[in-house]
Formats: sequence, C-alpha cells, structure tokens
Amino acid sequence: MKRTSLLLLAGVAAVVGCSSKETHPYLHKSEKPKAAEWGYTGDIGPSHWGDLSPKYALAKDGKQQSPIDIRGAASADLPSLAFDYKPSRINLVYNGHTVEEMEDGKSSVTVGGKRYTLEQFHFHSPSEHTINGRHADMEMHLVHKAADDTLAVVAVMINEGAENAAFAPVWDNLPSKDMAKREASATIDASALLPSDHGYYRYMGSLTTPPCTEGVHWMVLRTPIALSRSQIDAFRAVIHGNNRPVQPLNGRAVDTSR
Ligand SMILES: [Zn+2]
Repeated sequence: MKRTSLLLLAGVAAVVGCSSKETHPYLHKSEKPKAAEWGYTGDIGPSHWGDLSPKYALAKDGKQQSPIDIRGAASADLPSLAFDYKPSRINLVYNGHTVEEMEDGKSSVTVGGKRYTLEQFHFHSPSEHTINGRHADMEMHLVHKAADDTLAVVAVMINEGAENAAFAPVWDNLPSKDMAKREASATIDASALLPSDHGYYRYMGSLTTPPCTEGVHWMVLRTPIALSRSQIDAFRAVIHGNNRPVQPLNGRAVDTSR
C-alpha cells in the first residue's frame, strides 16, 4: 500500500514535469502546454478535474462521459470491426498518466464503411470500464481518429492468466519515471494484442482524461485477453490507479453486437 502511494506521488510529479512540452503526448494535439495539471488522487483527482480549468468543464458538466458500467446491453446488428493493423516500431512514452505506444499511422480499423487510423494505444490499471460492476485487472485503449477528426476507441479488458508473449516487445521496453521515453528497433503488431473474437459493446462517450471531450465512439470488446501476474505487476511498478471512476449513463444506449 505504501509503495503504491509513493508511485502515485511520483506519477503526479512527472505530470508537472510534462507540462512544459510543446504538445502533450497523451492524445490531445489541441491541448497546449498551459493545460492544467491533473492526476488520479487528492485535490487534482477525477472529482476535481472539472474545476481545474475551464477547458475541463465537460468533466463535471458533460452528459456523455466515460468510462461507464456496462450492463443490460441491447443486442443489435452492429457493423463488424475490420482491423487492418500492421507492425509499428516501438515508440513508448510514460507521461505520468499512462504508458503509451505511439503508432506510425499505418494501422486502421474500418467500422460501417468509416476508416479510423490507429494513433496510439495505452493502458489503465485497474480497468476503467466495469462490466456488471466488476473491474478487470487492466484495460487497453486503442485510440483511433478518422479523417474528419472523429475519435473511436477500442477497449480491451485484461485479466490475470497465462503469460502473453505478444506483449513482449512493449513490456521489454516499458518506460519508467527515470526513463520516460523508450524507442527500439523492435516492432509491435497491435493485431496480435486483440482477442480472436471481436464482438463488442458500443456506446457514445468521452475521453476518460481531461479535457474529457465528448463524441467518442466507444467499442469495448466483450472478450478479455490475459497477461500473467508478473506482466501485470511490471506495469503496476510504473503506474497503478490510473482509472477514472465510472460515470452516469444519463439515458445513453449501450448495444452489444450479435
Ligand atoms: Zn485510456
């Protein structure tokens, strides 16, 4: 417990260090260097995000926020997810909020005729979404953007199980607070990280981090993947507790593919 608290404190410190960079590495290209410091605990934690900056107002005023608890999803004829993922060079960053692999723009997913380019993927521990009130050990977010800037996030739940060799190129190069960026000649093929069954839950939500922008198409895969205990612990040695609590549904529909 004590160790976790220290790690979280260090994470918050790293966020402060991050704020002087030209662009925030965590997705938001429009988020300029003056973006307010935020974190996951204390007076910069999730319940305060909406008050930290006018730019984060949606965190408290939004009606379509993420993550959510998924339950009672309605079966629907949803379009299949056509993944076209290709190997990308390892380009990892620890930004104080997560560990993120920045992709080279050659991978995409097409949903209902619309193509979304894979920008980056990153992890939360424990999961942000819950299914019937239950957290998974971790959650992977594959963040995509269409040509019209529409965002689509594919979420994959991760539970403790067998060692997962597909993650080795990323896990062998996990950044740390001391070495926030890691590049390697090795490649990671994001398609190898997905479960074989692409059935999914769909709903409209938001980014789960400030500025909590809405209009995000969420596709949460129903089938979880596994990481070993030691793989989960290796990630948690970098960061743990980087999950925003679930948000009110406010009447939104949650569908599940047939
Ligand atoms: Zn995320």
